Amino acid sequence: MLNCQIQAIPLSFPILVYGESPVNSDFSETRSAVPAWPAYLALLDNGELERRVAEAYARLEDCDLCARYCRVHRRQTLKGVVCRTGERAVVHGCCPHHGEENPLRGWAGSGTIFFTWCNLRCVFCQNWEISQQGEGQEITSEALARMMLDLQRHGCHNINLVTPSHVVPQILAATLLAARWGLRLPLVYNTGGYDSPEALALLDGVVDIYMPDMKFGDSTTAHRYSHVRNYWEANQAAVREMHRQVGDLTLDEHGLARRGLLVRHLVLPGDLANTETVLAFLAREISTDTYLNLMDQYHPCYKAGDYPLLAHPLAPEGYEQALRLAEEYGLRRLDQRQRWRESAESMPRMIGASRG
Ligand code: SF4
Repeated sequence: MLNCQIQAIPLSFPILVYGESPVNSDFSETRSAVPAWPAYLALLDNGELERRVAEAYARLEDCDLCARYCRVHRRQTLKGVVCRTGERAVVHGCCPHHGEENPLRGWAGSGTIFFTWCNLRCVFCQNWEISQQGEGQEITSEALARMMLDLQRHGCHNINLVTPSHVVPQILAATLLAARWGLRLPLVYNTGGYDSPEALALLDGVVDIYMPDMKFGDSTTAHRYSHVRNYWEANQAAVREMHRQVGDLTLDEHGLARRGLLVRHLVLPGDLANTETVLAFLAREISTDTYLNLMDQYHPCYKAGDYPLLAHPLAPEGYEQALRLAEEYGLRRLDQRQRWRESAESMPRMIGASRG
């Protein structure tokens, strides 16, 4: 049985558990009028979504689906597969998430699906049991599609795909099925930001809301603490492409995210994340209207205690400096959630996590 592990949240409805949908699972709903949004509906209509699924699965055979470029046949072996995921996605759980950014959580929650494993290896990962030890259950695309529809039936505002980079084919296949069965929520691609251009091309016109991390403003630091090469270069290229596809974040009349880019940056102790470099990039090369969640909730997790610079929480002045820099660079569209330390008791432990 796969639990969502958000029991700490005071929910007014049952926690969703894979294979035990608490709602009516009649997926016979048929589509009527075709709206222009969410974006994937247009690709469903013209057959392009089906073609993307086929191309994505073909890419599993010489994997270039993230910036690692393992080039392994993931349908045949897991040897050399950094993300340790083969033909089927592994999922830890799903739930309406009330701790995400305001435009995502709204009043009914962001319909969040937590994928197991990760293409990064952050030593400070908050979810290391899931991302690096593989807690979760292998599921079919049909089951993933049912999860999406269950979240929709609960009234969630979007489908929030957490750590999706290594499971793009499985996500596309599930989206195809779910859209045929009546899914009408926008997809949020909630990524560590180490995505390949090949994967992003597959997602063009499918994803409405990109939410990448920008973890480090230099690749040497990223290599030391996330065990990944050329993170900064790959991350900048990915964010440029995401912004090209969807633009700045737009909201509907209720303040809910409709389409666009939302960037997360976790300020690290001792300025290890090179915050000014990240902010300068966003302001100069993306847009000063970038919606930015500048996160202050760093606390040592997993192996962080082995690294002296990461072994203690972020000092308040470190975050204040980051806020000052954001203002200096003209980035004023900052997420206004209550700060982590004010509400940690009521939030699931995955919120704002580093996808290690
Ligand atoms: S998704 Fe990334 S980490 Fe996984 S096998 Fe492909 S290139 Fe490697």
